[in-house]
Parts: sequence; C-alpha cells; structure tokens
Amino acid sequence: METGFLPRAGFQALLDALQQSGYRCVGPRSRDGAIVYDTLARMEELPRGLRDRQAPGAYRLEHTDNPRFFSWANGPQALKPLFFAPVEPLWRSERAADGAIRFAAIEPPVERLAVIGVRACDLAALRLQDRHFLEGRFADSRYAARRANVFLVAVNCTHPADTCFCVSTGDGPRATEGFDLALSELDDGFLVQAGSDAGRALTVHLTLLPVTAVRQQAADREIEAAARRQTRRLPSRNMRDVLFANLDHPRWENVAERCLSCGNCTAVCPTCFCHSESDEAALDGGHSRHLRQWDSCFTPGHSYIHGITIRADTRTRYRQWLTHKLGSWHDQYGRSGCVGCGRCISWCPVGIDITEEATAIGGEDAHD
Ligand code: SF4
Ligand code: SF4
Repeated sequence: METGFLPRAGFQALLDALQQSGYRCVGPRSRDGAIVYDTLARMEELPRGLRDRQAPGAYRLEHTDNPRFFSWANGPQALKPLFFAPVEPLWRSERAADGAIRFAAIEPPVERLAVIGVRACDLAALRLQDRHFLEGRFADSRYAARRANVFLVAVNCTHPADTCFCVSTGDGPRATEGFDLALSELDDGFLVQAGSDAGRALTVHLTLLPVTAVRQQAADREIEAAARRQTRRLPSRNMRDVLFANLDHPRWENVAERCLSCGNCTAVCPTCFCHSESDEAALDGGHSRHLRQWDSCFTPGHSYIHGITIRADTRTRYRQWLTHKLGSWHDQYGRSGCVGCGRCISWCPVGIDITEEATAIGGEDAHD
C-alpha cells in the first residue's frame, strides 16, 4: 500500500524532515569515480543523471540527461561499514602510578543516522548481519547501538548492473521489508511507502499527493523490467551439499591460478563479518588500545592457529570463502550468505565471477 506521491522538487523536504528529527542524512554521492555513501544535506548533492556500467573487474560512471537521482546500481560501499566499522577500538588499558593495570571499554559516540537510497539486496544483507551481531549468544554492543539509531530510506531498484543477480537469491529488486520508507522513482517524483511507525510519523512532514493508478503501474512495471534484465544467476539457493561433495573439484585449482588473494571480494561483500583483533601499545608502556578490524578468509593470518596456517594457499582460501558463503551459512543462519549484489564480481581486480565459479563447481548437480 503506497502512502503517497512526492513530487521531485519536494525531495529536499524529506531531507529537511529527517535532519529536523535529529538525523544526519547519509546518501549516495559521486566521489572518486564511484557512488558511495556520504553526508547528504541538499538534494542537489545526489548523483542526478549518473548511471553505472559494471562488468567483471570493471565499474564506470557516465553522465546522462536523465533527471533521476537513483538510476544506477550499488557502488562498492554497502551498509556494512556504517554498522560494523572497518577499524575500531574495543577497550583500552592503562598502567596506574601504583603499577596496577586498569581496563576500560571504549564505547564510541552514537549518532542518529538516516541512510537514503538503500537497495533491497543491502536490506537483506543487513538482516543477515543483524543475525550475526545481535542474535547470537553475545550481542555486539557497538553494532546494536548504531542499528537502534538508524532510519532507512530504501529505493526500489530499476537499473540493475550486469553483475547483479538478486532475483536469483530472492533478495530484490523490490524492497519488501526492513525499511522505514521505500521510494519508487519516476521521472517527476517518488511513490513513498512507509514500512514502520517511524516512517509513517515522518510522512506527516511531507506534502504527499494521492498515488494515481497510472503512476503505481508505471513504478511496478519498471521494477518488473529490472528483474527481467538480470542475466546472472546462481545454480541454486542452497548449494551446501553440492559444494561439500566437490571439495576436490579441479575448478578450485583453476580459480586459484587467477585469484590474487587480495580480499577485495570480502571487503565489498555486504554480509562478510570476519574480523581480527590486535593491540596498539604506547611506546612508554603506559597504555594500550585493543582494536578490531575487518579481516578476510584470503589473508594468511586469518587461518593461523597455534603455529600453523591452516589454509596456506589460494585454492583453499577461495574454497573456504565459497563453501562458507554458499554452503555452511545455511547451517549457521538458515540461508546462503549471498544476496546477489554482484559487488564481488565488479570489484575483483581479475574479474572472478561467483556465479560462474559456483556453476562450474556445482551447477549440474544443484537443485533448488
Ligand atoms: S558474495 Fe558477492 S554477490 Fe554475494 S552478497 Fe557478497 S559481494 Fe554480493
Ligand atoms: S576472488 Fe578476486 S577479489 Fe577475491 S581475493 Fe581473489 S582476486 Fe581478490
């Protein structure tokens, strides 16, 4: 059920209402040749008319005359760094004058954040990160605090990249849950749908017109067309058994000859959550900070246990990534860890394509 139609010129009212409600707005901005999230105070800062070209190992932006703000598919940055910081201190220790060492947690300041332009695949990834960081035996307090203070404005996707395959994973292109507001963009404005009490409360500050059947049908048609344009797919939504039955498949060696073990795929992946911890000690020994930073199953240190690196070569590291992402995630979280965003394909420097590798290893035997 749509709440109303917001004419394009009224978009600033949405940003103003969020800012007056105490949120810092973060939204898509064009920076360094890519669309990334950054502070967004004015609607003129949105990437109007920009569109992306993506392919394995390739991402380019080009300007068009299109009046729309959201006619592009996701860039490299997901929601992940907004909730699970790439590097952050967890606690500090300090040596007191009497020689005793005292420890104290470091809780970062939490701000109210409104994220504009979130796509369906990233909402699905956020649900998975919630399961990992909030619903296990030990909830992560930093993630929880950020998550509790966010307002999400989704945008239904009408311009999937050639690397997208969210239809195949069941996660897009329409945002169906997990948002406060969802927008469908048309040439003259936006259909605005509220998905939470906070979203409904915010629409009170907007001058919304009734949604006509013509506009509703036009928006629906664009989303359906976007779904039909996707050509990539995974062979199955559950590849657990087929991947574990093929641990000695020759394709693991083949992909290892191309893979650089750089970890780009895990850095851009919106669901990857692995991290490592280290200590940063002051030279005088007076204090130290304990840090958490993103790690990757492609680093040698990630599988270092008691003097042995368990996965010493690229073959076993790539196999770990794929069998975890598409296989053992089902045991941990009841679904695959892939939401079909395609980032690992576009941002892999040598253009390794997860759909191609999964099909080569388990395509023939996989069943939905
Ligand atoms: S594995 Fe690749 S396509 Fe799937 S969610 Fe991660 S980055 Fe996106
Ligand atoms: S698959 Fe690509 S992005 Fe991932 S580690 Fe290998 S070379 Fe890097």
